[in-house]
Amino acid sequence: MRLLLVEDDATLSSRLRADLEQTGFAVDVANNGIDATFMGESEPYDIAVLDLGLPGRPGLEVLRHWRESGNPLPVLILTARDAWHEKVDGFKAGADDYLGKPFHSPELIARLQALLRRGVARPHGPLRVAGLALDEDTQTVGILATDETFDLTGTEFRLLRYFMLHPGQVLSKSRLAEHIYDFDTERDSNVLEVYINRLRRKLGRDLIATRRGQGYVFGLDAG
Ligand code: CA
Repeated sequence: MRLLLVEDDATLSSRLRADLEQTGFAVDVANNGIDATFMGESEPYDIAVLDLGLPGRPGLEVLRHWRESGNPLPVLILTARDAWHEKVDGFKAGADDYLGKPFHSPELIARLQALLRRGVARPHGPLRVAGLALDEDTQTVGILATDETFDLTGTEFRLLRYFMLHPGQVLSKSRLAEHIYDFDTERDSNVLEVYINRLRRKLGRDLIATRRGQGYVFGLDAG
């Protein structure tokens, strides 16, 4: 999942970035409202964490701008502690959730995971799709029919989670790469193929179908 982190406090943003990357997010950081506005419009993020007090352009204006241009990106805002009016203004501007500073990274991560699963049947516990159960805390996957569990590498986990959140859809290599790698990572679609084949070897060949010239479809045969 590709995440835009908008935070001008360099200490906080580098700590959050490390914690988020460890949880399998591909993270890009903006430290001001102008860059944030532009990045949110030009890159296909899956979710954003938006501080409200920002140089250049306040977070609320960034959010309003995204919403006015029809951008449905899920956004969690970071508010000052006890500033209840910021939360109200944030929701009115189109925020999906909020967290008051200071906070612990595990709470932020849990809220982001819950936001990403809206619209997927099961909001809590392992993500269950196509006969698999993905545990986001341990980054392992279980095959429900055989009760086998497999460890996943970071890239395998990010790739499988994206597939499981978009079952039955044709996903091109470039779309997959855009959503599992951050801006600074070189995106090599041949490498992606290697990871897809590794997932097939672990979890079954039919789980990820190849559509020649179009991309991949996850979970069509497995139910
Ligand atoms: Ca700030």
